[in-house]
Amino acid sequence: MDIRVGHGYDVHRLCEGRALILGGVNIPYSMGLLGHSDADVLLHAVSDALLGACGLGDIGQHFPDTDPAYEGADSLMLLRKVVSLVHESGYRVGNIDATIVAQRPKLMKDLPQMQKNIADACAVDAQRVNIKATTEEKLGFTGRGEGISAHCVALILAD
Ligand code: MG
Repeated sequence: MDIRVGHGYDVHRLCEGRALILGGVNIPYSMGLLGHSDADVLLHAVSDALLGACGLGDIGQHFPDTDPAYEGADSLMLLRKVVSLVHESGYRVGNIDATIVAQRPKLMKDLPQMQKNIADACAVDAQRVNIKATTEEKLGFTGRGEGISAHCVALILAD
């Protein structure tokens, strides 16, 4: 069996007047993430981990933020395109483990839906996707509530 690992990391700035979408879940909050697409920082980290595992660069190369086609883009759609690239490369998703770093809002109750959305997009059982959320103890840009970051590792497999 051929097993490969990939890592993804992303940051988006929080601002007023934007929806907060994490893992494809619209989360009620006074601010949202700024970006060319829907700025779903979690799905961007997951997508980058999968592309990294395949040796296919990053989402900025595949879906440039200078391309009007991706303005306001649904990042779940982008993730499905990334998973198609994984499959075309001869691999399937083994498992995904990701962490969202956000001082606010509390995300615990939304994690199961994020897990389901990502598992569906990756064509795997939900038990192969693990999503965590943590604060950074009020330290740094996440701690000050200026932005949200996400980290992800992903394994892909070929028989
Ligand atoms: Mg991003």
